[in-house]
Amino acid sequence: MRTPMIAGNWKMNTSVSEGVALFRTIRDTLSEEAVAAVEVVCCPPFTHVPTLATEAAGSSVMLGAQNMYFEDKGAYTGEISPGMLADVCTYVIIGHSERRQFFNESDEIVALKVAKAIKTGLRPIICVGESLDIRNAGSYVPHVVAQVKAALSKCSVASADALVFAYEPIWAIGTGLAASAGKAQEVIYAIRQTLGACVGDAYAQDIRILYGGSSTDENIGRFMAESDIDGALVGGASLKADTFTAMVRIAAEARG
Ligand code: PEP
Repeated sequence: MRTPMIAGNWKMNTSVSEGVALFRTIRDTLSEEAVAAVEVVCCPPFTHVPTLATEAAGSSVMLGAQNMYFEDKGAYTGEISPGMLADVCTYVIIGHSERRQFFNESDEIVALKVAKAIKTGLRPIICVGESLDIRNAGSYVPHVVAQVKAALSKCSVASADALVFAYEPIWAIGTGLAASAGKAQEVIYAIRQTLGACVGDAYAQDIRILYGGSSTDENIGRFMAESDIDGALVGGASLKADTFTAMVRIAAEARG
């Protein structure tokens, strides 16, 4: 049985004080039943992580970072190492389409980061997804399958909890045009089949696969009704505490 996850990607938003206020509202609004049924993760900017680690201590809300480098230390100005993050958070988003698009992150770099995160004990939330051109050309399933295989090409997976996938069609991110639940299920089913081939069926059935792209409290119920979708990676709506906590409640009820 996979525990659903609702993870918020705050991207490059909020001051530290705004982030603390947002985190506290999320943490203090959620009921014990909701956080027992759904794993809740907030991924703020790096500058917020140590402060929020203190806020998160003793609560059920987990912390994640939005990126990391694949080397342990050294002359990499501006980068942050997996070991630095492992002290203060549990998860790290890797391969988000904005990193692939604006920072030239290739499948090779994503694979190096995934391997290093797992080796360091961080749990990567690995993002995959197709552009609108690839969707319209009809080759979205092979495209995403290739991204999944590439992401896992340099690591060994020793437990289903070691990683999470997020299927995020690029055309749905920040556009208000979420994929239909059926379209998301089609690709997420293919991801799960691919995981079976890469890490074995036993793990594949237990690895969480999220949907991401304009998910809100209005559509999360439809995604949760699909058999392979285990929650959402949430961008814009994760900055609104009432919407984000409503999504957690709806996900908890859907699997309750
Ligand atoms: C994201 O960027 O991971 C995302 C899903 O964004 P949004 O929910 O705003 O589409």
